[in-house]
Amino acid sequence: MFGDLFEEDFSFISNNQCGKGKKSKPRDTEPPAPREFTNLSGIKNQGGTCYLNSLLQTLLFTPEFREALFSLGPEELGTLDDISKPDAKVRIIPLQLQRLFAQLLLLDQQAASTTDLTESFGWNSNEEMRQHDVQELNRILFSALETSLVGTSGHDIINRLYHGIVVNQIVCKECKNVSERQEDFLDLTVAVKGVAGLEEALWNMYVEEEYFENDNLYRCGACDKLVEASKSAKLRKLPPFLTISLLRFNFDFEKCERYKETSCYTFPIQINLRPFCEQTELDDSEYMYELFSVIIHKGGCYGGHYHVYIRDVDELGNWQLQEEESNTVEDKVLRDTENAKEVENPLAVLKGILSEEESKQMPVDQLGQKLLEKKGMSWNKKYRKQYGALRKYLQNHPQVFQFSPDENKVGLKEKYHKLPFKSDSQGQDLQSPPQKNNVQWNLEKTSTTLRDSSAGCHWFDLNDSKVQPIKEKDIEKQFQGKESAYMLFYRKSQLKRPPEARGNPRYQIPEHLLNEMNAANTELQKKRAECDSASHGIDLHLHLSSCYKFHNGALHPSFTWKESIVDLTIDRRRTLGDLRQSVFQMLESWEGDMILSIAKPLPAGLHLYHSLDGDELTLDGIGLADGADIFVWNGKEVGGTKVLTGPDHEPVIVNVLRLAEYNEGGKGQHFTESQHIIPCSTELGALRRALAPSGGIILKNGSGLGKDTKNWEVLPEEDMKETVKSVGLTDGCSILILDSHDQSLVNVSNGNLTAFTYDISWLQVKNFCRTDAEEKQVKITTTIETVMSDIKIKAIQELQLEEELANDSCLRPVSGNGKLLSPVPEDYTVKEAELKMGSLLGLCHGKSPTSTQLFLYFIVGSDQHTGPEMEIVVEETASVRECLNLMLEKSGLSGDNWHLRRLDWCYEAGEALSQENATLKELNVCRGDTLVLTEGKLPPKGFLKIPIWWYKPLNHMEHQENARDQVNGVTCKMEALEVSPAGEYVQTDMGLCYAGSIEITGEASLEDLKIQ
Ligand SMILES: [Zn+2]
Repeated sequence: MFGDLFEEDFSFISNNQCGKGKKSKPRDTEPPAPREFTNLSGIKNQGGTCYLNSLLQTLLFTPEFREALFSLGPEELGTLDDISKPDAKVRIIPLQLQRLFAQLLLLDQQAASTTDLTESFGWNSNEEMRQHDVQELNRILFSALETSLVGTSGHDIINRLYHGIVVNQIVCKECKNVSERQEDFLDLTVAVKGVAGLEEALWNMYVEEEYFENDNLYRCGACDKLVEASKSAKLRKLPPFLTISLLRFNFDFEKCERYKETSCYTFPIQINLRPFCEQTELDDSEYMYELFSVIIHKGGCYGGHYHVYIRDVDELGNWQLQEEESNTVEDKVLRDTENAKEVENPLAVLKGILSEEESKQMPVDQLGQKLLEKKGMSWNKKYRKQYGALRKYLQNHPQVFQFSPDENKVGLKEKYHKLPFKSDSQGQDLQSPPQKNNVQWNLEKTSTTLRDSSAGCHWFDLNDSKVQPIKEKDIEKQFQGKESAYMLFYRKSQLKRPPEARGNPRYQIPEHLLNEMNAANTELQKKRAECDSASHGIDLHLHLSSCYKFHNGALHPSFTWKESIVDLTIDRRRTLGDLRQSVFQMLESWEGDMILSIAKPLPAGLHLYHSLDGDELTLDGIGLADGADIFVWNGKEVGGTKVLTGPDHEPVIVNVLRLAEYNEGGKGQHFTESQHIIPCSTELGALRRALAPSGGIILKNGSGLGKDTKNWEVLPEEDMKETVKSVGLTDGCSILILDSHDQSLVNVSNGNLTAFTYDISWLQVKNFCRTDAEEKQVKITTTIETVMSDIKIKAIQELQLEEELANDSCLRPVSGNGKLLSPVPEDYTVKEAELKMGSLLGLCHGKSPTSTQLFLYFIVGSDQHTGPEMEIVVEETASVRECLNLMLEKSGLSGDNWHLRRLDWCYEAGEALSQENATLKELNVCRGDTLVLTEGKLPPKGFLKIPIWWYKPLNHMEHQENARDQVNGVTCKMEALEVSPAGEYVQTDMGLCYAGSIEITGEASLEDLKIQ
């Protein structure tokens, strides 16, 4: 199998995506979730319906209401089945409410839907629902229900349960005539602003009297004149269920905006309404009410969320608070938050301070001091911004604070303590409440004696679909703040529940609704069971060995992946034996052992892992997951090839890189790259023998991506015993194979490449030292950082020349047309020498210039002809004169009738190097420049030497254009013309001939030039 590892046909890799993605099973819509541990049903929020939900739950947990509703049978209401019959009388609203209540009581779902009910109200859009406020909705709902029950025995349900009467009376002080006006109510609205709690609000409404006196007199009908009178209101008839709306939303006339009153507003769990009633002589039990629902508004005045705390009077829900092991911690947290809440409320803070004072009063300025001492905060810092000055604040709360007549001292008003202001107080203005009321206001103290503490105090927080048990004490959290009580529902304590109703949600539900709910529950169970088994089904992909071949270190399908796989869906709770049986049934012709092995498609192909064992175990138990691949085979071979299994034999695909051969241009791809599949158990030594038979080293790319030097890491000799896996070569890893002669690029001691491998290439060196022998040429591996002398030495070795040659030879780039260019200084790197990778160098006799020397070409040029190009090495600090002398010497000339010129861009003698004492460096003469050794003395400074051309027109047809060319020719030496060395005839259409040159001073006039 090792032999075919290196086959490089990888076409199958792209086909390897054998439809692995988990198929999304077309499941039925999931049945609704069952009830949670409270066993109470919530109500879905259908978009801004949380207030409706809170109200509906309150009505549901008013057993007297729901039972009254349930008592109305189909003979009175009709049935929903007849809804489409035109002549059938169907009272949809009560029917839908009945059904919803039945669902809430009996249907095993986490949350019920109110869509049918809201449709029965004619609310079809969320918009219509959001338009209502919960207090308003209460009235709308009652009114709709009343209307829909007209003419049935239920026509007075609302009145029976919620109707109360308030009586307003005005008593004439003179004739004692009582003028009376009755008001009906279904709920009472009470003020929150500036009021400490419900009792105070009721006190203000139904105990305090208003006086008509002074400028504000009352016209008595009996006396028929303006008289002094007193006005009061009393509760005349108490309903069984008292609904109280708190006016938390107020209008700030200064700011001209609505705001939410978040101040503390207490309300008791039990309340005695006797003080507020007209009739006070009845038994106490006639006046006692118990709180059973608190609708809570959370948020500001332009939006928010409602939820409701409800007392489960019939104990229908499972009220089990978590064990109070963390009691102390919880209490502390509670105390802390309460303390924090209290601090936010200056009314409570100031009341607290004053009530701790023995005299219950103190100078106003001392109150500020006390605040700082006791609570560590200054009024001005903490409250002033929000509540104004302290004195002003006290004055604004006259119902709580009372000033001494001189206004210097402040105390708590009488009802907040037992010790009223003494003689100096305005006693006659303070209505002293009857003593017995004072006692009953402290109901928290008496509540335990009035009610069995364990029974009937099962409170739940019903928040749309969520229902959670809470403690009765949690209600106190809703006294104040952004999240606080908004509507209160009290029930008369006298109303007792029959024992058979306790814990019995079916109590008083009509038969047809019981049946409907039973059927619905059965349906739900069935659906849940189906869903359950569907969720236990797993898809397995069976790969049949007959469809596979083993090659390239892995299994590959003989045809396509698709054809080789059989999908099987099976319940994960069944056993492996069941699975095996299923497979046998599918493959009728199977003979012999059947081994089921876990398979995994890897980039290299399919690989096998452990075999499944233990037919009595469940598929879940053996960890078979959805989408698992299973190979069905005999456990030994596939198509005659032994297959090694397990993680140790996983095939990995490795990119094998080698340095490329001669590379034109020097940049870009310097590697050849090929993919190889290697079993991960392969020893590195074996890998090296296979990949680099003549020896070499292997480098691993640590990063897997960049081919920068720093990412390569040599796999040292001692690792050759390691396996591909143990050195961390995984799919997609790259390794670089360097043959032995490339190893100079590697610093074996630290295991790193010394050069950027992407810069690795070759230079070719040709031997120019021996002209006789054939010109031998070798390739030298270099990088851009390789120094020229190293290349030279290596080239001498490779060319098998004498080592001494190194002392008298240099490397010269060879141009495209074979010309030997200027030698490169020995200490230059390839980069500094600006050598292109792959270019040809000539190994030539002669020392190469040092970095302070210039290699120059020169030609000897006279006016009439030019000699061959010669070469010279000269210090860059040499003067022009010294250079000139060296060149004369080298060319065997003498005399002083010579000077040097640069070769201009059209290869002609150009600018003269006239400053004979300047150094070559100063004149910017560079390595490789060609100078022209020119005959003749330079003109003295300030004189020009101007070549004169004689223009001989060839025919008369030539006109202006030529004339212009002629001028150009004189001044620019005919840039348009083909150029030949100076002095020769120029072959053009024009008859131009060189007439010699004239030396003339730059200041001379054109006239002077002509004369000469
Ligand atoms: Zn009167």
